Amino acid sequence: ATPTALMVGTGRSAKMGILIKNGEVLEAVNDITTVVFDKTGTITMGKPEVTDIVGDQKQILPLAASLESNSEHPLAAAVLTKAKAAGVKVTPVTEFQAIEGKGVQALVNDQMAFVGNDKLLADHAITAELKRTAVKLQTAAKTVVYVGLGTQVIGLIAIQDTPKATSKEAIAALKTRGLKTVMLTGDNERVAKAIADQVGIDSVIADVLPADKADHVKALQKSGKVAFVGDGINDAPALTVADVGIAMGSGTDIAIESGGIVLVKNDLRDVDLALAMSRKTFSRIK
Ligand code: ADP
Ligand code: MG
Repeated sequence: ATPTALMVGTGRSAKMGILIKNGEVLEAVNDITTVVFDKTGTITMGKPEVTDIVGDQKQILPLAASLESNSEHPLAAAVLTKAKAAGVKVTPVTEFQAIEGKGVQALVNDQMAFVGNDKLLADHAITAELKRTAVKLQTAAKTVVYVGLGTQVIGLIAIQDTPKATSKEAIAALKTRGLKTVMLTGDNERVAKAIADQVGIDSVIADVLPADKADHVKALQKSGKVAFVGDGINDAPALTVADVGIAMGSGTDIAIESGGIVLVKNDLRDVDLALAMSRKTFSRIK
């Protein structure tokens, strides 16, 4: 083995915004058969925007914003941006709770309120019409968060996060290489499938709780070596477990620390470039 070839290789890729942390990463890249992607912030821009508010317009946004002002989730940011633009007043809540992979809840004027997905609906009454509206929005690639007050679901907010301009081309390049592509996300299955269709991803694993992402990677590893591409706090365990962890440069610190490769330019096309360069470097070392 010639460490020089390795340094030249990693030095060249670093200039292109692809940081490769060590030689082991290069070796693992050679046998990758599957590339697994997080959705939000990895395939999509990670800048979700509110597109629809269904229900009493005077009630839904103020209530949702009051709860979400206590959350750091990207969906919360979308709701707060909309509320600010609409000049909505945020009221303080008590007993706020963030429920990982599901949403948020708190007491508002002595009533339990929540904003979140199906998993939070449990005992709440929801009209068939609202449910139908949700399905329609989800099929159009919009993430739906329900707004609940007391025992009722009183409305919903649809939030859109568009794929990055280069995601489709990036996926196509990997597929041309013969690699299998998978989306792994906490979002709803209909939304995940709609986005996967837009960018050409083969298969979708949706409704995954943050704590379960790494287990899904492990299961996929039974049929070959797996690269995982992600950016969030909840992606860190999956980035560590994967044979090659690829973190977005715009990602959270913990994701960047957990990745063996970091894509400084946040361009998904650099996944293919990273694989190509690693292979070239490795063949020179051998
Ligand atoms: P991912 O980053 O893969 O999209 P998360 O686990 O962060 O997944 O979130 C999964 C789902 O949980 C979201 O799509 C949403 O339905 C719900 N959720 C999480 N946090 C919030 C929040 N603050 N407000 C509303 N919904 C939320
Ligand atoms: Mg993400």
